[in-house]
Amino acid sequence: MSLIDIVVPCYNEEAGLRHFVEVTNSVIEGIPEHKFRYILVNDGSKDKTYLIMKELANQFDNIKYISFSRNFGKEAAMYAGFQHTSGDYVIVMDADLQHPPQMFPEMIKEVTENGYDCCALRRTAREGESKFRESFSKLFFRIQNALSETKMPYGAVDYRIMTRQMVDSILELSEAQRFSKGLFSWVGFNTKWLPFKTIDRELGQTTWSFWKLFKYALDGITSFSVAPLRFISGMGIVIFLIALIYIIITIIQTLIFGIDVPGYATILMVTLFMGGIMEFSIGIVGEYLGRIFIETKDRPIYIIHHTNFDEDEKETKRK
Ligand code: UDP
Ligand code: MG
Repeated sequence: MSLIDIVVPCYNEEAGLRHFVEVTNSVIEGIPEHKFRYILVNDGSKDKTYLIMKELANQFDNIKYISFSRNFGKEAAMYAGFQHTSGDYVIVMDADLQHPPQMFPEMIKEVTENGYDCCALRRTAREGESKFRESFSKLFFRIQNALSETKMPYGAVDYRIMTRQMVDSILELSEAQRFSKGLFSWVGFNTKWLPFKTIDRELGQTTWSFWKLFKYALDGITSFSVAPLRFISGMGIVIFLIALIYIIITIIQTLIFGIDVPGYATILMVTLFMGGIMEFSIGIVGEYLGRIFIETKDRPIYIIHHTNFDEDEKETKRK
C-alpha cells in the first residue's frame, strides 16, 4: 500500500471546493489498495476558501492545508504543495473538477504497473472556450516547442501523477519564476500521455484573463529558451550585410556616375526601420534582464500564513 498525495492549488474556490473533495472521495473509495492524502493550498483567496478548507480538514483526517499570506500564483501554490509531500506518488490537479478524478485508476496504473515515472493528461477538446483563445494556445505550444529544447505536447495540462523521485527532482529546481509545464518536461523521466476532454468549469469563475495567459506564454518561452536573443543577433547580421551591399552599390554608382543622390526618403525609411528594430531588440533583452533581476533577489516563492501541518512535519518537509 502506497501513500498518494494529492496537491490542489485553490484560488477563490469557495463555490466548488467541498464538491471537489466529495467527488474525489467517492473515486478514492474505489481504490482501497492505496492511501490518499490531500494537500490543499489556499493561494491567498479573497473569498471563504480558507474557512472551507479548515472545515474540511476537521471533517476528514486525510486533509492537510497550507494557506498563503497573499496570492502568489498557481505555480507557487503547486511548489508549496510539492514541498510538503511525502507520499510515494504525487498527484497534482485543479480544484474545479475540470481535471476529472475519475481518471485516477488509469493514471495510477501507469506508474505502479506499467513502469512510467509520470502519467500526465493532454487535452483533446476544449469545450466552452472561444476559437480565438484556442488558436492562441495552439500557437503558443508551436512556438514553445520550436524554440526550446524541452518539448511539451499540445494541450498538456497540469494534471498528473509523478513518482517521489520525479517530484524530488522538480523540487531541486528552485527558480522563483516557475513555469511548471516546462519544469515537468525539463527533468525528464518517462511520461505517459493520456488524452482527455476538458469539461466546462461547473462552479466559480476562471481567473485567467487573456493578458494573464499572454504573460504566462511569454514567461514560458523566455524561461526555457534564449532563441529570441539569438534571433536578434541574427537579425543584426542580416541588416549589416544588407547595409554593406547598399554602401558598395552607392560608392560604385558615385564613382561611375558622379554624385546624384537625393536621399530624403531612403534616410527616413532606414532611420525609422532601424529605430523600430532597436526598440524591439532592447525589449527582448529587457525581458531576460528582468528575469535575472527577479531571480537575483532570491525572495521566497511563497509565504505561509496558516497550516495544519504540525511542527515536526514542517521540519521533515522536503528542502
Ligand atoms: N489557481 C491558483 N492561483 C491563482 C489562479 C488559479 O491556485 O492565482 C488555481 C485554481 O484555484 C484552480 C487552478 O489553479 O484550482 C486552475 O485555475 P483556473 O480553473 O482558474 O484555470 P483554467 O482551468 O481556466 O486554466
Ligand atoms: Mg479551471
